[in-house]
Amino acid sequence: MDEVKSKLNNNNKRNFNVYFLVILGLMFMAAWMFRGLTGQETDYTRGELTKDLGAGNVIEAIMQPNKETPTGIVRVFLKSGEEKTLYVTDIQEMEEELIAQGLDPQVRDIPRENWFMTSIFPILLVLVVGVFFFVMMNAQNSGGGGGSAKMMNFGKSRARLTLDNKVTLKDVAGLQEEKEELEEIINFLKEPGKFTKVGARIPKGVLLEGAPGTGKTLLAKAIAGEASVPFFSISGSDFVEMFVGVGASRVRDLFADAKKHSPCIVFIDEIDAVARRRGTGMGGGHDEREQTLNQLLVEMDGFGVNEGIIVLAATNRVDILDPAILRPGRFDRKITVSAPDVKGRREILGVHSKNKPLAEDVNLEQIAQTTAGFTGADLENLMNEAAIHAAMENRAFVKQEDIRKSFIKVGIGTEKKSRIISDKEKKITAYHEAGHAILFHVLPDVGPVYTVSIIPTGLGAAGYTMPLPERDEMFMTKGKMLQEIMVSLGGRIAEEIIFDDITTGASSDIKKATKVARRMVTRYGMSDNIGVINYDDDDDEVFIGRDLAHAKSHSELISGEIDKEVKEIIGSCYAKAKAIIAEHEEILHKCAKLLLEKEKIAREEFESLFENKGLTAEDLIKEI
Ligand code: ADP
Ligand code: ZN
Repeated sequence: MDEVKSKLNNNNKRNFNVYFLVILGLMFMAAWMFRGLTGQETDYTRGELTKDLGAGNVIEAIMQPNKETPTGIVRVFLKSGEEKTLYVTDIQEMEEELIAQGLDPQVRDIPRENWFMTSIFPILLVLVVGVFFFVMMNAQNSGGGGGSAKMMNFGKSRARLTLDNKVTLKDVAGLQEEKEELEEIINFLKEPGKFTKVGARIPKGVLLEGAPGTGKTLLAKAIAGEASVPFFSISGSDFVEMFVGVGASRVRDLFADAKKHSPCIVFIDEIDAVARRRGTGMGGGHDEREQTLNQLLVEMDGFGVNEGIIVLAATNRVDILDPAILRPGRFDRKITVSAPDVKGRREILGVHSKNKPLAEDVNLEQIAQTTAGFTGADLENLMNEAAIHAAMENRAFVKQEDIRKSFIKVGIGTEKKSRIISDKEKKITAYHEAGHAILFHVLPDVGPVYTVSIIPTGLGAAGYTMPLPERDEMFMTKGKMLQEIMVSLGGRIAEEIIFDDITTGASSDIKKATKVARRMVTRYGMSDNIGVINYDDDDDEVFIGRDLAHAKSHSELISGEIDKEVKEIIGSCYAKAKAIIAEHEEILHKCAKLLLEKEKIAREEFESLFENKGLTAEDLIKEI
């Protein structure tokens, strides 16, 4: 890969010199002005004093002789109100001259702070400012990577430009759906004319959402490589600096560069660093970040549709992004890059063992099976560690044993973000999710199921069952709320039916079910015993210690009633849901089995489980 700094180094050196001189000049000017402001010029000359004395301008004088030498300081107060200080070599002679002019010079200490203010302070100021800039300069460069020249280009973009990019989609394993979604962008970059002719509008910005290491950067780079266009990459955190305005100017610089190289891809990693919701943050807003974000929005709005710049941005926190960046004409396309399933992992292992000779005992299928929850980056790391292990033993090929050993090593490192999942856990998760899925499917007002997955999300969930995006509905009905509670309980019920034991994995489900039930009772008046009264202590309000400060709007007695009612709702939902799942036990087994096999199943596959009631799970898997 041939990565060229967007600004060449010698250019930086020149910048550095110019900036340095300018800043030095500014510092001296500031120091000089400061001296002027104190009103006590030391550059008063002996000749000027003689002239002022002769003209009768001097009203009063004070002197401070030096103890060891005949030198000293004299300060005179002029008619004009000015104060002048002079250092003299012969204080005796000075005194005589003053007396001759009819003055009565007092001998006393000339206040020290004036000394400080007039001579030492400016020097200190220069030093402090100088040190400050020096530190900033270093901080600026330490993260920049590579550049040997110390530069002061605060406002420069710091983006890395890759012109000769050899990464293509072939290097990106799995991620089939993601690649398909990005296909049109590649086509557009290759042949923009084809699209502009028919007036098609191509998105300017695409947001790639996914856990770290899932291949977002790789994907962005591959698009640029596939279309043979320049690739600019920068991290959101590079924009955020201590100085207000620096980030904004970097954004400006980046887009100016990009325009010169259009068509091209601009990739912003960790966009959440700049694009966090505005006006939040502890202790008031973050001016610098807001300015940077505003500039980014201005730039994105500024370049025309189809101008040939496509901005790809990556984040794993879409939830904290400022909604403004998701508006049309900005990042109006969102692609979720998910952790790979078994098949994806097998392919990624293939890519990363390409130039590693493998012994014949290496079974990549089996490794793919045991690495649920690993991201592409984890797998790359796994194969690399295995190769290192082989090299340490002076072998020119990788054995299964090397991979097994590095699996333990990488696995422990990976544990924090995505634990290695035991077969038992996987099985429990499969039944748990199948339980949710069946209820989604069977109950009329919820669902249909869009995906069921037992791939850990990296956010603490062992799997998920996702219904189709909710339709816009004005009202929730009581029936629908009850069904939602049933669906939430489905995971736990399936575990109970199959394993005759329960796990702690359902805690968030239970929390959700309880919340819905409580709202039905306290907010929507859906319980006959409690009646149509709002007992809800508006829990949208963020207020720490609310229960202490807020007088409860109802008595302990009512509280007890509410709890009883909530318990009743949950209890009856639980019984109904359990009956439904028991009735579909065969499907529960099939679904869990299919999940264990594929880790992620889509709507059609899931629904076909219900159509082929006569078939066994084995038949089904063969069919697919
Ligand atoms: P992200 O940007 O999502 O944090 P990266 O794109 O930086 O992840 O991925 C880090 C590394 O992991 C890549 O350089 C690559 O070696 C490997 N990797 C991740 N996903 C894949 C994939 N789908 N196919 C091949 N390699 C991958
Ligand atoms: Zn669940």
